[in-house]
Formats: sequence, C-alpha cells, structure tokens
Amino acid sequence: MPKMKVLKFGGTSVGSAENIRKVKEIVKSQSDDAVVVVSALGGITDKILNAAKMAILGTDYFNTELTAIRERHEAVVEQLFEGERKEEVKEQVSQLLDELERVIIGVSMIGELTDKTLDKIGGFGERLSSYIISEFIEEASWIDSSKLIKTDSNYGKAQVNFSLTNTLIKAALGEFKGVCIAPGFVASNAEGEYTTLGRGGSDYTAAIYAAALDVSVLEIWTDVDGFMTADPRVISKAYVIESLSYAEAMELSHFGAKVIYPPTILPVYKKGIPTYIKNTMNPQAPGSLITSSQANGKDHPIKGISSISNISLITVQGLGMVGVTGISMRLFSALALQNINVILISQASSENSISIAVDTAKAGVAEHAIRAEFEREIQNGRINKVEVESDLSIVAIVGENMKHSTGIAGKLFNTIGKNGVNIIAIAQGASELNISWVVKNSDLRKTLNVVHESFFLSENVEVNVFLLGIGLVGGNLLNQIQQQQEKLLKQNHLKIKLVGVANSRKMLLDREGISIEGFKERLDAEGLSSGLPAYKDAIIDMNIYNSVFVDCTASNDSPIVYADLLNANVSIVTANKVAASSDYDNYKKLKSIAQKKGVKFLFETNVGAGLPIINTLNDLVNSGDKILKIEAVLSGTLNFIFNTIAADVPLSKTIQLAKEQGYSEPDPRIDLSGIDVVRKLLILVRESGYKIEKEDVKINTFIPDEYFNGSIDDFWANISKVDADFEKRRQVLEAENKCWRFVAKYENGHSEVGLQEVAQGHPFFDLQGSNNLVMFTSERYNEFPMIIKGYGAGAAVTAAGVFADIIRVSNI
Ligand code: ADP
Ligand code: ASP
Ligand code: MG
Repeated sequence: MPKMKVLKFGGTSVGSAENIRKVKEIVKSQSDDAVVVVSALGGITDKILNAAKMAILGTDYFNTELTAIRERHEAVVEQLFEGERKEEVKEQVSQLLDELERVIIGVSMIGELTDKTLDKIGGFGERLSSYIISEFIEEASWIDSSKLIKTDSNYGKAQVNFSLTNTLIKAALGEFKGVCIAPGFVASNAEGEYTTLGRGGSDYTAAIYAAALDVSVLEIWTDVDGFMTADPRVISKAYVIESLSYAEAMELSHFGAKVIYPPTILPVYKKGIPTYIKNTMNPQAPGSLITSSQANGKDHPIKGISSISNISLITVQGLGMVGVTGISMRLFSALALQNINVILISQASSENSISIAVDTAKAGVAEHAIRAEFEREIQNGRINKVEVESDLSIVAIVGENMKHSTGIAGKLFNTIGKNGVNIIAIAQGASELNISWVVKNSDLRKTLNVVHESFFLSENVEVNVFLLGIGLVGGNLLNQIQQQQEKLLKQNHLKIKLVGVANSRKMLLDREGISIEGFKERLDAEGLSSGLPAYKDAIIDMNIYNSVFVDCTASNDSPIVYADLLNANVSIVTANKVAASSDYDNYKKLKSIAQKKGVKFLFETNVGAGLPIINTLNDLVNSGDKILKIEAVLSGTLNFIFNTIAADVPLSKTIQLAKEQGYSEPDPRIDLSGIDVVRKLLILVRESGYKIEKEDVKINTFIPDEYFNGSIDDFWANISKVDADFEKRRQVLEAENKCWRFVAKYENGHSEVGLQEVAQGHPFFDLQGSNNLVMFTSERYNEFPMIIKGYGAGAAVTAAGVFADIIRVSNI
C-alpha cells in the first residue's frame, strides 16, 4: 500500500516557470500519494502587502506593484502552458488578480487597512501559485487549505485550532490517492474569514497536513542544500548539517535560521514524522534530516549558529527587586498582554536586574507596558531603571552535544572577546541545548564568522591581512604568500586572505578577498584615495575577524595608527622599526594594549631581517633565562663596508659601492651615523626586559660630525678626505691580523655602539658580506654565548620574516 507524504515548495522553488518545471519533475518522481503545499511565487507576498500599504498611504504606487504582480504571473503562465489551456489558465489567474486589485483599490478609497483585510489580501499569492501549479501538473487536484486549517482571529499570525483542523483534513484527505496541491500560509477563522499563519508560514501549513494525516515523511523543498551550520548568505563556509534533532531544529529556527518557520517543528515532533530539508535546484543532494534520534554531530559539539538582528534589550533594574516574588510574573504578563514575544531572558542570580530581548519594532510598546505595570515601584524607587538599548542582535549556538562537553562557553567567549566584540547579555538554558548572547548589530557579522570558524572549521583558520606598503618588501611578501597559499591551506589549514592593500596614495579594501594576481591594477582602478587615517578608519569600520595590519613601510608616520588598531583588536606585524624603537613608554603601551586585547604586536624583522632573533630572545626570557650581555653586528651596510675596505678600495669608495649595490639607505649617512644600529639595540635590550631610551646608548661615530651636518652633496664631495687617515689605521690593523666591525653592545645597564677592532678567532671576525650576527650571553648560555648568524638584510628575507610573523598571528 503506498504511503502518504507531504512536500512543501517554497517561494524560490515556485518563483519562475523554469523552477516550477523542476517542481513538477520532483512531484512526478514520487511513488507515494502526496499533498504538495506551495508558497506564493518568491517575493510576491512582499509585493502584495506592500501594495496594500501604499494604497492606504494614498499614493498611486500601489498600481505599479499590482502591475508587477500581474506581469510575473502572466509570464509564468505564458511559459508553462500552450494553446487553449493557456487561455483558460490565464483567464482564471486574471480573475484572481482582478479580485486582489478590487480589494486594494477599496483600501485606497476607504483609507483603512485592518489586519483582517491584510490577511485576506496576503493569501492571494498562495491562491495564485497553487492554482497555476495544480493546472500544470495535469493529474493533480487542488484543495483549499484555508477551508481546512481553522484558527483564531489573531490576524497576521493566527493560532491553529488543531482538533478541528485535524478532523477537517482527515475528512478531506484521509482516503486520498494521487497528488493534491494545496496553498500554504492561508487559513480561516470560525467565521470563515481569511487568516494567515505568519510570514514564512507555508512550512507550518505543510507540517499541519503532515501531522493530521500521520504521513511517513515531510519534505521541505527550498533553495539551499539543507539545514546549514549558519546562514549561508552571511557565512560563505557554512555547510549542510546531515541530521539534527527536532529540538535542535527548533532552537536554530527560533533564533533566526530562516530555512524553516519555527512553529513547523512542533506538529511533526509530536508525531515523530521524519522531516527532510531538500533543494529543488539540486534534488540529488541528500539534504538534512530532522528526526527524534539523537544528534550525530560526532565531530562538533554544536550543530549550528543562528542570529536575529535588530532586537532591543530592555533592562529592569532595582535593588527593591531582590528577593521579591512575582516580579517576573508581572513583567511577562504585562508583555504577554501586549502580544510581545520575548526572544531572550537574562537574569543575574542577585535578582537585582532582569534583561529581556524583544523585536525592536515592539520595544516602545514593551517599555510602555513595563513602566505602566511597575508604576508604583518606579515611584517609590524599588525599581530605579527601565532602560532600552537598541541596534542589537542575538546570536545563538545550538547543539544537543553541548551537554556532554565542557569548556564550550569558555572557548566561545574567549574567541569572541579576542576579536574585540563586546557581549552585552548572555543566556543559557539549563537544558544546555543553546547558549545565546547579545551583541551590537555592527558586530554581528564578525561574531558569526569567528564563532563559525572556531567551532566548525577549526581545521581551517583564516587570517585577514591589511597590507600597508607595496614596495620591495610588500611586493616580495605578496609573492611569497601567493606561492605558499595552497600549501598552507593543505598542510597547515591556514588561509591567508588579503582584504586590504594601500600605498601612500590609494587604498583598496574588500572583505571577500583581493586576488594577489593583478592587485596593482585593481588598486589603480578601484582604489580610493588613501592617507593613513583613512586607511585605519576603514580597517576599523570593516570590523573583520582575525585581522592583521602588516606595515611594510619605513615611514615615520605609520606607527601612529598602531595603538588604535590594536585597540580595535587588529594584530600588527611590522617591518618598520620606528614604533618599537620610539619612546620606551610608547613601545610599552603598544605591547600592553596587544596583551590586554589578546592580539599580537610582532616585529621580528626589525632586527636582523628574517633571522629568528627576537623570537629566540622572547623564548629565552619567557622560559626564565636572564640576558646578561648582548654583542651584535647588526648593520649589513656597515659590515659590507668594513669587509670591502682594502688598500685599493678606500673608505669613501666602499660607501659608494654600498650605495650602488643597494646595501645602504639612499642617504648612506643614516647607516654611517649608527642610528639604525642604535634602534636595533634598543629593541633587543627592551625585549630582554630592560628599560632603555635612545639617549641611554652611547654612540661612537667613526666619521667626524661635520660630515653629518651639511648637505648630502657636500658629503659626497668631501668624504674622500677621511680616506688617508683610515688607510693608515687599516694597515696597522692588517698587520695585527685584525678587522673592524661596527658593534652594538649591552652589558650591566650600559649600552653602546661603535667601531671595534676584532682579532682573528673572534666570532665577528669571519662575518662575510652584509651578514648579521648576534651573541646572547645569559645565565644559561654563559660560558659559550648563543650565536645567531646569517643574512640580515634584503627584501626577500625581510618579507619571509614578515610572513612568518603573519603565520604566528594565526596561532592565537
Ligand atoms: P523558502 O522560500 O523555500 O521557504 P526561505 O527563503 O524561507 O525559503 O528559506 C531558505 C533560506 O534561508 C536560504 O536561502 C538561506 O538563505 C536562509 N537561511 C538562513 N539560515 C539558514 C540555515 N541555517 N540553513 C539554511 N538556510 C538558511
Ligand atoms: N508566502 C508567505 C510569505 O512570504 C508564506 C511562505 O512563503 O512561507 O511569508
Ligand atoms: Mg520559508
């Protein structure tokens, strides 16, 4: 004996002739008898209700809406039918549309639109669609749901009288064989007047039929592959949940998962009817199954995340509420009397405040009702505050498995907090099926992203990069990221996504990601004119999760924005030494903001480019070692100069060569003055845990001061004057088998930089080319200091160091 099924097709599924053809195929492929519930053509209910609202406002715009509604239906009929049938169907559709038009014109003339009229109008979309589809599926019959589903007169969202409804449905369809098309959403009250089941209510219609007929299965056909871990319009990485329990589906839909209208679950749950969510556009996909059996969810403690935006939080506060019974009862009764749905409740155990979340559209009425109910308490001060906060959203995570896992709330709020999102209220039921919390509307997207990522895609972490500076280092960095991207994703499950890029003139931001290939052309074509403050503001406004600002400039100005960015929970990776070598207080401030906010402030490349110097130092200090002495050759430029100097290559020539070969700054005096080395030493000493300012470092210059005071042209014109003296000294040095190194040193609170004569056998002696070398003498590395040595300059190694720091940010 064939069993019976109920299938429901939503607005998109019946939104075009092409999709209605798919519906027909799906219906025809069924071997069971079936009741097929259909929604209005997608978007039509909105248009109908809008036309009515326009009509009452006295504008003629309703005519435009009516015309559009007519054209949509006519076009569908035109494409689905042929010949005489087409004319017949057209005629019927036209009559229904005429009827709709008459009611709406009536509204515009009388200037009155009651909820009752609105319900009469609202159901036209389903009446039209169900008629068209029942004609298109030749062997199908049609039944009027509004005659079978009986409700009270709560127009707009009527309550079903189940005993009467079940009897009527069983009488009409109990013995039914074949396919019967029924409009969703529509119902009627005891007087036979039209009512509706609430927006999105066709799902509910289907569940009501399913339960009344005790069918074997309910199928909700829509435009996505199933019930997903999050709203796919917000979270592109959301994926289909294979199976979920009635309770999970109920919670997720209650908290905003639009894929199913929340009241739908109860009737099928009571009868234990398995319910599938399937995709009309992709019928082969398995879909999601909602049943009573325990959630699978072996991999994840939670099933999904959902959210409702535009809610308001009303907080009632007063010391006089503590220990007084009946306050909650009065509060909720007052709200119930106004038909206000409370979405979330949060009460501290001290009972001195209670917060409830309601739809913002209802917040005014709710506040008024509460103030009226507690008028006396407000007057005598037992309640001292009724406060409404708006522009908020509720987010909920749902899953039966939460019951068996610990640490979920901890992980949840930790992740959210690290991303700088403030949590305004929290609620968790004792059933542990759901944790919900309130955030600002403007933080919603970010919250959903971080939570989805940390609970579902823990194997794939995404880091969002905002790059500043696309010169040599920035350019190299992008190339390296591009080359490594695939491998990082595969092996480290790390996705580095470029979401912002700026040079001194232009900036480009795109939360969906900027392809590295061709980014320059895009920056030129689409980039907005930039400037540091504008770029910073745009980054903060974007409020994107796991984000990192990467400074690949040598600009004195860019570090000015670091504090604001860190405060907005954006990590910073910088190749720019200015910040870490600025005033000690500023350096300290940046580090402490980063620590407080749980983000990173990394500058490994500030000393020794790509060499792992600062990280090594941090590891030593963090693990309890104490740095006693630092000796380092930190200037690639100066090392090149003192490696090149020879009888036939005087000092002035080496400076010129350093410049020509790209080892020095455009004005080589910046290197020669030792200032750059001082900055690096400051950073090393600070990272060793000591307080030091620039002025505390003694600089022993090897070129007289006068060369630094004049213009750069004067410098080039005169520098050869030092050659003779240097050559004399060099010969002495050579005879003693020694060489010069420009050394930075710290010991016992004393820091200095300057030229040092180094004898053969010393680790500095054999330092080739422009290499760097750092020696740490510590309590642990005492007799033999720790040595780190290698290329200490160059765009490629610096970019690699920056890249490594970006990867480090992902490990938060
Ligand atoms: P129908 O018209 O078929 O009733 P709806 O638009 O009411 O379809 O519901 C389906 C839509 O719900 C999807 O297109 C999707 O954008 C949205 N949605 C929100 N949350 C979820 C979720 N968790 N899983 C699947 N879809 C969701
Ligand atoms: N057509 C109705 C609406 O748009 C009901 C539904 O589609 O479920 O709300
Ligand atoms: Mg729907």
